[in-house]
Amino acid sequence: MTTLTSATQGSAALARLLGTATTVTVFTGAGISTECGVPDFRSAGSPWRQNAPIGFKDYLADPMLRREAWRRKFVMDDLYAGSRPGRGHRAIARWAAAGLVHSVVTQNIDGLHAAAAGPGDRIVELHGNGTFARCLGCGKRHELAPIRARFEAEGTLPECGCGGIVKSASVAFGQPLDEGDLRRAAEASLACDLFVVLGSSLVVRPAARFPEMAQRNGAKTVVVNREPTPFDVVADLVVLADIGDVLDPL
Ligand code: NAD
Repeated sequence: MTTLTSATQGSAALARLLGTATTVTVFTGAGISTECGVPDFRSAGSPWRQNAPIGFKDYLADPMLRREAWRRKFVMDDLYAGSRPGRGHRAIARWAAAGLVHSVVTQNIDGLHAAAAGPGDRIVELHGNGTFARCLGCGKRHELAPIRARFEAEGTLPECGCGGIVKSASVAFGQPLDEGDLRRAAEASLACDLFVVLGSSLVVRPAARFPEMAQRNGAKTVVVNREPTPFDVVADLVVLADIGDVLDPL
């Protein structure tokens, strides 16, 4: 394992690994979006942790909690309204355009990989997407703007035409992850010869198992994060530096 704390050296070391790789899977967490104004979950003072989470079962069972979940969501949405892809998202989009990227597996719900024109349908959003909503009954997509307008004007909770409960398309605490997304993430982890983790504390499971899977399958592994993760001890390269600084020159 090589650990580097200089972004310049980290960038050069990652460039060497990218130069010998044929298929790269990128795994991202909240740290890739902090420079875009979207706070991460675990850093000090994170607004995501101001309230105890509303679990999925409670959301289903109690309209009052659904109302509170929507109120909180709109407060958080305002915090990072208009955020644009950062240097990390744009670097990954360049690697994808060069044909290097098998998939981007992300824990993020902010939609910024797609906004950066990443690898299109090869973005696996393990924890869903908070930029729209879905009916939990029939799966129909609902846009947030009309939901918010009615919620704020009339206090109305969204309901689907089929009568189903409508919820943000991000995954709530206690809500099962999509089986298809888990399968695609596993396939991407096994298909690559270089697995690059960017901005994840790697403590949220099952997401954190994907770098382990790639490594056991023989891929080289890299972690770029500004603080250590539990996976560092087995990674081939660890860069303890800012993601944008490391990826921008690549
Ligand atoms: P996390 O908050 O647990 O970890 C983020 C890591 O990124 C931290 O270790 C932090 O030190 C590091 N980091 C922050 N900014 C960085 C930078 N500029 N350069 C290098 N490192 C940086 O996030 P996680 O592991 O993704 O897990 C949190 C969960 O919360 C996720 O599962 C996700 O669903 C959700 N979440 C998503 C978003 C988003 O969509 N942007 C934001 C917050 C939380």
